[in-house]
Order: sequence, then structure tokens, then C-alpha cells
Amino acid sequence: MSKKDHFAPKPGTPIDLNDYDPDFHEDYDKSSGREAVDRLQEQIQDWQERLYAEGKQSLLIVFQAMDTGGKDGVIKKVFSGINPAGVYVKSFKAPTPEDLAHDFLWRVHPHVPGKGYIGIFNRSHYEDVLVVRVNNLVPKEVWQARYDHINAFERLLADSGTRILKFYLHISKDEQKERLQARLDNPDKHWKFSIGDLPVHERWNDYMDAYADAITRCNTEYAPWYIVPANHKWYRDLFVTRVICDTLEAMNPQYPPPEAGLDEVVIPD
Ligand code: ATP
Ligand code: MG
Repeated sequence: MSKKDHFAPKPGTPIDLNDYDPDFHEDYDKSSGREAVDRLQEQIQDWQERLYAEGKQSLLIVFQAMDTGGKDGVIKKVFSGINPAGVYVKSFKAPTPEDLAHDFLWRVHPHVPGKGYIGIFNRSHYEDVLVVRVNNLVPKEVWQARYDHINAFERLLADSGTRILKFYLHISKDEQKERLQARLDNPDKHWKFSIGDLPVHERWNDYMDAYADAITRCNTEYAPWYIVPANHKWYRDLFVTRVICDTLEAMNPQYPPPEAGLDEVVIPD
């Protein structure tokens, strides 16, 4: 197994996040990494056009991370230049009373991408086994049953023509501290700082355990997890862009054949 493959664990492998180096960057440096991303972005643009034109398959991309992990940053980078008509982002915030009056997947299902589209989840149904578990927002037996519910839900989507990719952006606790401090120090970033993020920082180890279980129990052939080394923003972008590009290539969407007789059409004056 190459070192890179280590970050795409095989389904069934128990995950301990201490085994995953958030500083990992293969043999790339910032400049070669950025160049590689630029090239891959162009390929993604081309594949997305085909996916949209073909209209038969869809791609769902889930991003989960601790605060400051870079969800917004990677979405901005990877999808810049893509035709916005075929891609959309759904951010999942704390549930509303109406959400809470339903099962936890009720608010998620309407946002999965239809045929021809790429849908991006900034946070997702995984919050219901992460923040909910760490803060005891529901009894243990309720969140414990959710891993199976999630697998069944993702299986349904996969069986219906949706490819699913799930990225956990893995930063270290020290890196998070620095990034939170940078948000405090820069007035333009104050809007991103929430005092409520601090207890989350303090409960780092509980979150790591919750992430490890979510990844272990919901890492499937039809909806794989990737643990993205994310202390270096440029490597995080490269890792994610490359997986998306490889996946689109494997999906291999094709332009539909032209209508019969197009070669005889004359556009009237
Ligand atoms: P940023 O990274 O810019 O801070 P964000 O995704 O953290 O963006 P916020 O509005 O700061 O957005 O936070 C959303 C909050 O909603 C998070 O604290 C998250 O844990 C919480 N949340 C999301 N889903 C659920 C859920 N199902 N139950 C409880 N809390 C949830
Ligand atoms: Mg936040």
C-alpha cells in the first residue's frame, strides 16, 4: 500500500486518527501542489460538463471537519471555475424545531443531487453521530442506531445512481488553535469566530473518538471515507481535487449522441 492509499482506508478497517499524519504531503511542495490542482481543476470542469449533458448519474460530496478544518476553503478552491448551473452547496447548521420533529435524515434527503448534478454537503447527516453524540443531545441508543441508518440511506442513494465521496479534513489540535487565534487577530475573520467553538476545541479527544467511529462504521465500498491530511491547505486541496477527478473519470459520463439528421440541418436566415 502506498502512503497515499493509507488515507483511503479499506472498508472494515478500524480507524485510529492518531495513525493519520495531518502534515503529510507526499513529495509535493506548495508550488508543485498548487500547479497540480490547477491542472486537475480543468479536468473536473470538463467532466462536470459531460455529467450534466449526460444527465444519468450524480455525485454527492460530503465534507466534515472540526472548526477551521477548511471546509469552506476547499469547496471554494476545488469548484471555482465550474459551471454553477450544475453544482450546488448545502450547509447543514443546527437543526430547526421542525427538523427535530422528524427523523434525522428528513432534512437531508431533499438536498441530494439529482441526475446530472454535483451536490456538496458542508457538514451533513454525520453531525448526528458527531456533535449530537459528544454533547449527549439524544440518548446513546438513538445515536448508536444511526450508523446503520446512514449506511442504509447511502446505499439507497448509490443504488439510485449517485456516487458518494466523504472527506474528513484532518487537522491537528495545535493547528486548530493557531487558526482560531488567526480568526481572533484578523478583524476580517471575526465573523467566522464563535465563542461557542471553544468548548468544541476543549473536547477535541471526544470528537476524535466520534469521528473515528463514524469513519470506521460508515466506510463502505459504495460510500467511502477519505481522511485528508489538512494542516497544509494546498495539499488538502490537491488530495480532494485528485479524488474527485479520479471518481469522475471512473464514472465516465458521456455527451449524449446528437439527434439524427443534424448534419442536414440548415439554420434559416
Ligand atoms: P464555519 O466553519 O464558517 O464556522 P460552520 O459549518 O461551523 O461554518 P456554523 O453556523 O458556525 O457553521 O455552525 C453550524 C453548527 O451547527 C455547528 O456547530 C454544527 O455542529 C451544528 N450542527 C449541524 N448539524 C447539527 C445537528 N444535526 N445537531 C446539532 N448541531 C448541528
Ligand atoms: Mg462554525
